[in-house]
Amino acid sequence: MKRRALISVFDKSNVEKIAEYLEGRGYEILSTGGTYRKLKECGVNVTEVSEVTGSGEMLGGRVKSLHPVIHGGILANRAKAEDMSTLEEREIAPIDIVIVNLYPFFAGLKEDKTFEEMVELIDIGGPTMLRSAAKNFKDVLVVVDPQDYDNIINEFEEKNEISYEFKKEMARKVFNVTSSYDAAISEYMNEDGEEEYLSVSYKKEENLRYGENSHQDAALYLRNDGKGVMNNIEILGGKKLSYNNIKDLDIAWKVVWEFDEPACCSLKHNTPCGAAIGENSYDAYMKAYNCDPISIFGGIIAFNRKVDKATAEEINKIFVEIVIAPDFEEDALAEFSKKKNLRVLKCQYKPDDKYEYVSVDGAMLRQTRDEKLLEELKYVTENQPSEKELEDMIFGMKICKYVKSNAIVVVKDKMAKGVGAGQVNRIWAACEALDRAGDGAILASDAFFPFSDVVEKAGEYGIKGIIQPGGSIKDKLSIEKCEELGISMVFTGLRHFKH
Ligand code: 5GP
Repeated sequence: MKRRALISVFDKSNVEKIAEYLEGRGYEILSTGGTYRKLKECGVNVTEVSEVTGSGEMLGGRVKSLHPVIHGGILANRAKAEDMSTLEEREIAPIDIVIVNLYPFFAGLKEDKTFEEMVELIDIGGPTMLRSAAKNFKDVLVVVDPQDYDNIINEFEEKNEISYEFKKEMARKVFNVTSSYDAAISEYMNEDGEEEYLSVSYKKEENLRYGENSHQDAALYLRNDGKGVMNNIEILGGKKLSYNNIKDLDIAWKVVWEFDEPACCSLKHNTPCGAAIGENSYDAYMKAYNCDPISIFGGIIAFNRKVDKATAEEINKIFVEIVIAPDFEEDALAEFSKKKNLRVLKCQYKPDDKYEYVSVDGAMLRQTRDEKLLEELKYVTENQPSEKELEDMIFGMKICKYVKSNAIVVVKDKMAKGVGAGQVNRIWAACEALDRAGDGAILASDAFFPFSDVVEKAGEYGIKGIIQPGGSIKDKLSIEKCEELGISMVFTGLRHFKH
């Protein structure tokens, strides 16, 4: 019996190549409308699917291949006599190869399409054929990726047949594609994040050299809708990004976009080590650098404004891993190009992910991003902060959001001069931040004070104002201590834990 291959592809690149090859091997080629016409033009001897089904395409292409003659031909278990006699009774010929790729739903997500247009991009017959063939992979070769056409030809040339392993691998690819395709549809329709099943659709961009450490495997997957910072970063120079680079730049980028003013953040180990706002990028950088000229070494530097040559020259005086900014002056890029390994990243996309996902063993956690800064500004002491002090307080709280709890940030002149991060009690975080800062005007805390010890310590370092969420049953103790030491205290009513 003549072997048959069904080809129905949206992406028609190289389809004539595989069709011609299969024709040369004696396969009868069946195709849906558009694919049929393309193959015909290329001189392939092809039969239209509608001729085989005896039912013309209908509903504007919504029903083309959805027919028992097609799916019976794909799904019949060749080793089962019953299946084969059913085919014979119904005069259905088996289909041995299925080559299908889908309506471009992923690509549609990246365009400005209406909901109705997106619905039309939901392929029905394609995934159905792919799933039928992949389920019956033992008997049917299924191909979803045009990049595999050459592999099929090689397999035939080398072995004169397609091995079980190859067919299984192709089936695996199919379910991987169709599940992600459906996840993308589900994600698109589930915008509110209330779905019962987690539907996220990401495609592997690349394997990373390693993960957090050299013995850990790692890969980067990008959102299929083209959105998000990582989807919109241009690497203008330097080595490929590493796993830690990506995690770190994500936070540095979020920090600078907390501000409308020109801002710079230097960051190490997922923690801001310097952050400042200034007149321009240069000013902000010099201030951020001076927050902590030691930790910045080997760090990441992010800007929310274009970077000029003078700033690049300053940065080049030290070793840093990454500079990321919305843009660079040409001569700044020339300056950076002197450092071969420095990764220079251009990104015009502001952080806008609605949800954050964190995996724990056996589960995935989802939360909305910590976008809100404060609930209120409640002055709880007789002493009130000056305008400038209040600005420093807000600045400090914005940095606190990105510092691992317990987080204390000591601020002076819109510079995060001391950052106390990841301590298991608040007083240690305060001691560290105050000690690092040397001097500071304002102390910001990510969560309330259970005792008056932090205020007391702040007093020793000459802190003038404290901003914190408030809400402890012992708030009174901290407030009284502030009054005693002449410190102003402001409550925000909003905690910013980061664990
Ligand atoms: P063609 O360009 O050959 O007319 O159509 C190829 C596309 O149609 C492929 O992307 C394939 O997945 C899809 N397709 C094949 N059969 C059907 C069907 O019965 N219904 C729908 N909606 N799409 C189909």
